[in-house]
Amino acid sequence: MIWRHLIRKPRPVSPAPAAQDRPEPPPSTRSPHDERRLAGLMRQRQAILFDIEQGESAASPDNPWAVRIALLGDAIGTVTTDLAADSAVTPGPWHPVPPSPVMIERLEAGDLATVVLDVAGERFAYAEEPDWAERGHQIARPELTCRSGDATPLVPPDTPGELRVPLREHLASSLLVLVTDLRDRSLEGETLPDAITLADLARPCPTCGGWTDWRGTCQACAQRQAAINRLRREESRLFDERNGEIEQRHKLVEGLPLARRRLKDIDTEISRVTGQAPPNSPSPGV
Ligand SMILES: [Zn+2]
Repeated sequence: MIWRHLIRKPRPVSPAPAAQDRPEPPPSTRSPHDERRLAGLMRQRQAILFDIEQGESAASPDNPWAVRIALLGDAIGTVTTDLAADSAVTPGPWHPVPPSPVMIERLEAGDLATVVLDVAGERFAYAEEPDWAERGHQIARPELTCRSGDATPLVPPDTPGELRVPLREHLASSLLVLVTDLRDRSLEGETLPDAITLADLARPCPTCGGWTDWRGTCQACAQRQAAINRLRREESRLFDERNGEIEQRHKLVEGLPLARRRLKDIDTEISRVTGQAPPNSPSPGV
């Protein structure tokens, strides 16, 4: 996004402009104690002048905070538009599959699980890949992978041409979800589902109408939701950043009268030490 490059923190305003610099006092007969005191007061004066500069900059009409606040507002607008666009539900692809039986031929959930299914007469074999890197202290089960089986014959002959490949791929991934569920249930000692059919692997999504997998997950809706969540986080971050800028500007402007009073006090102190009249302070201005 372009706005990222536009929003930059300002360079801090250089501490004291020449006009406000206090001239070095002439060499005098001040005691070491007074010299140290004077040096400390001069440092404080520089710091206060910097605060005054920042405050005056924040109070000016074309201050850098206002520019960043406006840019952040534009960025929020862009994210809001993207959110509206990404929240729109587009109908997913769907075509019915018959309730052909899915039979569990083999289910072994030992060290390396194996699952073999008969799906409408087609044989599918799955096995866990040994994870050599993690052997001995394995925390998560390895993924099951398809060793044999082709979902192409499972696509009904009346499936429209443009849906044949998407349906084959959906059935293949839904079968993997099913065998993973069967393995996990077996490991947990849970009862296995009975009378599984091919239709259970491709039910229509209640939101977009597209295929859902064995667990009822719709990939299109899951991806849309992930995009929405990402944009909401971005929107919230931008709002926080903008509020931070507004607050910082407000604090600087609000602190200006106090900073001016402190400058006056410091100058009075300096005059006491040097025996000279105070320098011209910045105008009370804003
Ligand atoms: Zn969906």
